[in-house]
Amino acid sequence: MAEELQSRPLRSEKPGVERVVAGGGDDRLQRGSENPSFDGGGAVTPGIVSPVPQRSGAQVGGGWIEQFADAPDVLKSEPEQATVVWARGMAIGGGDFVTMAGPCSVETERQLMETAERVAAAGARVLRGGAFKPRSSPYAFQGLGLDGLKLLAAAREATGLAIVTEVMAAADAPLVAEYADILQIGSRSMENYALLEAAARTGKPILLKRGMVATVADLLRSAQCIVSYGNPNVILCERGIRTFETATRNTFDVTAIVVLKEISRLPVIADPSHAAGRRRFVPALARSAVAAGADGLIVEVHPHPDEAWSDGEQSLTFAEFDAMMAELAPWCELRGARSCVLETLP
Ligand code: PEP
Ligand code: MN
Repeated sequence: MAEELQSRPLRSEKPGVERVVAGGGDDRLQRGSENPSFDGGGAVTPGIVSPVPQRSGAQVGGGWIEQFADAPDVLKSEPEQATVVWARGMAIGGGDFVTMAGPCSVETERQLMETAERVAAAGARVLRGGAFKPRSSPYAFQGLGLDGLKLLAAAREATGLAIVTEVMAAADAPLVAEYADILQIGSRSMENYALLEAAARTGKPILLKRGMVATVADLLRSAQCIVSYGNPNVILCERGIRTFETATRNTFDVTAIVVLKEISRLPVIADPSHAAGRRRFVPALARSAVAAGADGLIVEVHPHPDEAWSDGEQSLTFAEFDAMMAELAPWCELRGARSCVLETLP
């Protein structure tokens, strides 16, 4: 598998992605252009895909790294290497902590617009909302489909927020990519390779959620697949895994965030909502994600969670979201001088 993937030619990197070395007080993220040339101490050649990283154990953590050998292109080639993924002029993984927020599902124009305005005011940079929903029951709300995508685009127009939304079927990828700034691959789809390929080939950034029974190595293998299909714009997402614990919907694997930040150059986003399954736990998990080194959050928020068409129990009210964002600010500041700058990049 590794050989097969390695031998596939990587297409040239899309504009909008840079490999950078984080740290070093690089302030170019604030003033930078759409695709700035970073040279913060590492080997950076804009527009050129680096060869397969040198995986010396000493550099990236030791012999245990060999278990990730099937995902060479998403591992770090040096300890401080970090890839910035650009979405709608915004850098993800570049130092700023990016919050994505919104309802589980797009339901109505009013629900989405109100949510978009409130989460933007509280500091979110990306609006989430499912138009195509993976539901465990065939009788549950399946999403508004194209109408939902149109509402998301209208909310972007009104607020300037970027849009992340799930694509569930390979055949839908071009359509979803017409509307979304970031394509979400859901937990249940992490190993749907036809979908990974179709999503990758749109060229849009991909938010790849960890499968609920997937290991870190499995997640990185799926990321490697996307990269091997010519799309380096991958953002990893820890959203909780299935364990024997039943007090929460899933078990938030904060260790996975630490491991991923250690070994992978890709940005890591945490989803405390699907991990917790209950809104009261979401802020604490969000704090732990910041402390573990996540590059951002994706959080469910709803104007009236008790009336939500999906995942109401884990959705925050507007007031709860405001409080969580205020509470997170000092934690984000501890990440570094740039970590909480909220202005939109040019
Ligand atoms: C979602 O984001 O609403 C969702 C269905 O997430 P996951 O794929 O992580 O279950
Ligand atoms: Mn949901």
